[in-house]
Amino acid sequence: MNYSEQCISSVRHNNLFSRDDSSEETGKVAQKTESCTQTRMFRKRRGTLVSPKNHIPSGMIQKYTSKNKKLAPSERPRRRRILLMDWNRFHKLDVIYSFMDELEKDFPAICTVYVIGKSVEGRDIKMLKISNSNASNVAVWLDGSIHSREWITTAVVTYLADIIVRNFQNTSSSITNKDWYIVPVLNPDGYVYTHTRDRMWRKNRARHDSEFVGVDLNRNFSFGWGNNGEEGSSEMPNNVFYRGPEPFSEPETAAVRDTILSSSTPFKVFLSFHSYYELIIFPWGYKTEPCADYLRLLEGGAIMARAIFEYSGIIYKVGSTKDLTYYACGTSIDWSYAIAKIPYTYMIELRSKKYKFRLPKDQILDTCNENWKAVQALMKFVDQQSRI
Ligand SMILES: [Zn+2]
Repeated sequence: MNYSEQCISSVRHNNLFSRDDSSEETGKVAQKTESCTQTRMFRKRRGTLVSPKNHIPSGMIQKYTSKNKKLAPSERPRRRRILLMDWNRFHKLDVIYSFMDELEKDFPAICTVYVIGKSVEGRDIKMLKISNSNASNVAVWLDGSIHSREWITTAVVTYLADIIVRNFQNTSSSITNKDWYIVPVLNPDGYVYTHTRDRMWRKNRARHDSEFVGVDLNRNFSFGWGNNGEEGSSEMPNNVFYRGPEPFSEPETAAVRDTILSSSTPFKVFLSFHSYYELIIFPWGYKTEPCADYLRLLEGGAIMARAIFEYSGIIYKVGSTKDLTYYACGTSIDWSYAIAKIPYTYMIELRSKKYKFRLPKDQILDTCNENWKAVQALMKFVDQQSRI
């Protein structure tokens, strides 16, 4: 048994689906596998095997396995806890963060991990930057799990990071001419909470002079904050859409603002991943009128939706936030478009309308692949538009 096999055989798959999903996020509103991706994943195990702190050096494993003599129970080395990053199940925060660190370690020329802020409870908000350091690049933002129960978003965002990094030398120039700013878990406190206490937790874990916990981070951005009263967000701390006491009151949203506004590389694309309505939506969410770039955003969204449909046969509807859902005020995409001036800004609501937040794990990889197709198509479109 070689190093990889030894490590993989020691992995224990935790069943994270412990409760039935009976609640909706809002109350308002083909099984196909890319075989080359699977092959790639299994061949590249060294890069995806992670331990909570560091890789266990292969020498240590060999030393352990080469001992033939029988040891008394008290002498036996404790079985090491090895964590495997894959896209066949949902992972806890330590696995996600170790995965990011391992990518940086294995691909130091193009990967850098940053801590862009601390959560309310003091956890790191980690961001992976992928870049070939070309000065003419433009920047792309990807985030997942701003709403902590939407686990598929973190799976998709980590998958996009992994496939971009591992194929960087052979992929399209419309991918490599971008600096990728990737935050797989924007709400780490909430994410941990969904894994330990309440699978359906959406907000962060802030307390604002109240017995109630949590701010809806996607109502805490400044543009349109508090508009439309209780229709667009809530001023009530016990409400699932609580917008917080003021714009950017939360360190998680402030981290996004500060990272983007302090970047010397101009951002051209902002993609925030959510679930589960199978939608591609864009500004505005705070009002009904179309934004100035409605047609261009509609076209870019339709190109992504077509790429998804051609891959999996699933239709993601495309339109403005208000048209397809409801008033959503203080969202990250309204802010990124209006204030950060990012021209291609979308919220992608992943699968699935059928299973809601509890997407079966056998659909993770397909959801990742269909969105990889969508992101590639959007990057081509963005480049084509900039040449016009
Ligand atoms: Zn969401």
